[in-house]
Amino acid sequence: MGPQRAELLKKELEIVTYEDLLNHFPFRYYDKTRITKVAEIRPDTEYVLLSGKIVNLFEEGQGRKRRLSATFYDETGSISLVWFQNLNWVTKNIEDYGQYVVFGKVTDFNGSYSITHPEVEPPSAAGTAPGMQPVYSSTARLTAMGISNRSFAKLTHALFSKITPQAIPEILPASILQEYQLMPRATAYHQIHFPADELQLQRARFRLKWEELFIMQMQIANLRLQHTVQPGFLFTKVGEYFNRFYNESLPFDLTGAQKRVLREIRTDTTTELQMNRLVQGDVGSGKTVVATMSMLLALDNGFQACLMAPTEILARQHYQSVSELLEPIGIKVAILTGTVKGKDRKAVLNGLADGSIQIVIGTHALIEDSVRFHNLGIAVVDEQHKFGVGQRARLWSKNTRAPHILVMTATPIPRTLAMTLYGDLEVSVIDELPPGRKPIKTIHRPDRYRAQVMGFLKEEIAKGRQVYIVYPLIEESEKIDYESLMAGYEQVKSWFPEHLYKIAMVHGRQDPEERKRNMDRFVKGQAHILVATTVIEVGVNVPNASVMLIESAERFGLSQLHQLRGRVGRGADQSFCILLTGSGISKESAERMQIMASSSDGFVIAEKDLEMRGPGDVYGTRQSGVLKLKVADIVKDVQIMEQCRNAASLIVRNDPKLLLPAHAALREALRAAAGQSHWNKIS
Ligand code: ADP
Ligand code: MG
Repeated sequence: MGPQRAELLKKELEIVTYEDLLNHFPFRYYDKTRITKVAEIRPDTEYVLLSGKIVNLFEEGQGRKRRLSATFYDETGSISLVWFQNLNWVTKNIEDYGQYVVFGKVTDFNGSYSITHPEVEPPSAAGTAPGMQPVYSSTARLTAMGISNRSFAKLTHALFSKITPQAIPEILPASILQEYQLMPRATAYHQIHFPADELQLQRARFRLKWEELFIMQMQIANLRLQHTVQPGFLFTKVGEYFNRFYNESLPFDLTGAQKRVLREIRTDTTTELQMNRLVQGDVGSGKTVVATMSMLLALDNGFQACLMAPTEILARQHYQSVSELLEPIGIKVAILTGTVKGKDRKAVLNGLADGSIQIVIGTHALIEDSVRFHNLGIAVVDEQHKFGVGQRARLWSKNTRAPHILVMTATPIPRTLAMTLYGDLEVSVIDELPPGRKPIKTIHRPDRYRAQVMGFLKEEIAKGRQVYIVYPLIEESEKIDYESLMAGYEQVKSWFPEHLYKIAMVHGRQDPEERKRNMDRFVKGQAHILVATTVIEVGVNVPNASVMLIESAERFGLSQLHQLRGRVGRGADQSFCILLTGSGISKESAERMQIMASSSDGFVIAEKDLEMRGPGDVYGTRQSGVLKLKVADIVKDVQIMEQCRNAASLIVRNDPKLLLPAHAALREALRAAAGQSHWNKIS
């Protein structure tokens, strides 16, 4: 290939080396494994390979409408062939009554079949050997330069004829190849480009997916190894604080899931190793109590504890609910956020340094250098995906040893993703809601029902309930967001006149004090309605609020809608989530609304979200290129992922440094992959 085209290939598809070319896999195949008879063609037939004669080649039309037609027949019937381009080539190369093998896509035009621009070759010609013909992706610019999707087949074919199988060395240990019945690597590369048949293609794909996910799981297993070797504090005692809380202060029975997760945390903190545990629990599943009791374990063993939330509002809410829980047993809880200043701040800093404050709750203000702990034993991080690893790591340096880390998230992460994104964390799931919760009724209404919806809101407010009205963030322009929120606010006021209804509003442009004031009014029941942007997405707990109205709901993703819905349904009353949308929404948006209306299970919704949007979109990892997979599909290939995870942890346990000769090639492959991987940057 000349330098110009090579440059373009690099620019368009990042293909520079032979290896890159080999990794540019076909995205589909034409099945040329068998010759079809004309009589077998059905209306739903796609691509066919036919063998027979071409007759009656003739030209029709003038100028740009000029075209060539011909009749193709075999012993069972006939079909027409049509060309609009390369007419000269056709007239020069196709002989009347010549014997040909023809390949192409069948079009059904009122029951008469034809093939436009068929591939036509004499039966003897190379390239029509039976097999699956690969179809590659190309780009418009490459095609314009003469590198079409068919060129890739030629290039790759040429490459294979140049290299020996040794050029594609095996990297998986023989024991794994045998146990999981994997095709050798060189064979798999050949078969994925030029499969002999469907079965070989499946086996090649399986092998390559396996390899891809295995490399990923090896990296994760290594990360986990690095983490678990960290020594940790011992919480041997379950002492007075924990027991008094459990017996005297806990206002309800723990759910089975809460108990199980607490046991898991307890086990982690008695092993002399540092805990790194992720607790996943749907909104309302009761993570706060689990966090609180974990912190009490630390206190019982002479340590301090902290809880870090991503926003001021959340920190304040946690502060309030944890204080309420712990006041009866005489534990002093402090709060430290950006708005705690002057004397108050000084007092908190001193209390933490001398150990007189046992529990502190706050925002990332907690990890500032000025914050010194006397003896921090555990750090709970709420809604972890809003914090980077860097921030989590800074918590580690707050004591002589890294404190135990408990990460809590309400984002239900599908199992496959949890295995990848949080590979260095152990995962606990609170998969049970406290008893007596009424499922939230979710209703989708197009805009034209607005009057009716507002009437319903008034009825609920008349019953003493409170209502959220949420507007989307468009993010591209803070100004537009602000303006549309203000317009919405005016509209809300026109439905709910000020002399009858109290309305509070929170949004990102308010200073924290003002936001807090508004939030407090709603929390304390002094406002009927809270108009908000997605600031309230996570954690806010107002049990008396029973209606969540989401404006322009089509603008939200599934997971976000589910998070918002989780703000209601926290009290004893029947709660509602109303999704207001425009009337002409896309099919995909309509599907999202339908999924919301039919399911309240966060895990189901997360799976659907993943299916509809892809992992990058859902978890904001696309930009970092973290989940760029070549063949494997993180949703569909769960089983392979599990096999790989098992195989990887076995290897890492037995030969952590991969020093055995059987692991030499794998070690090299991992070293090569290390440069391209970003796993360590995520969790
Ligand atoms: P989340 O997991 O969303 O953080 P919270 O911890 O805020 O959930 O709990 C939601 C509500 O459920 C709170 O009002 C809390 O007091 C209550 N709750 C938690 N655990 C239980 C339980 N086992 N039984 C009854 N109510 C509970
Ligand atoms: Mg919470």
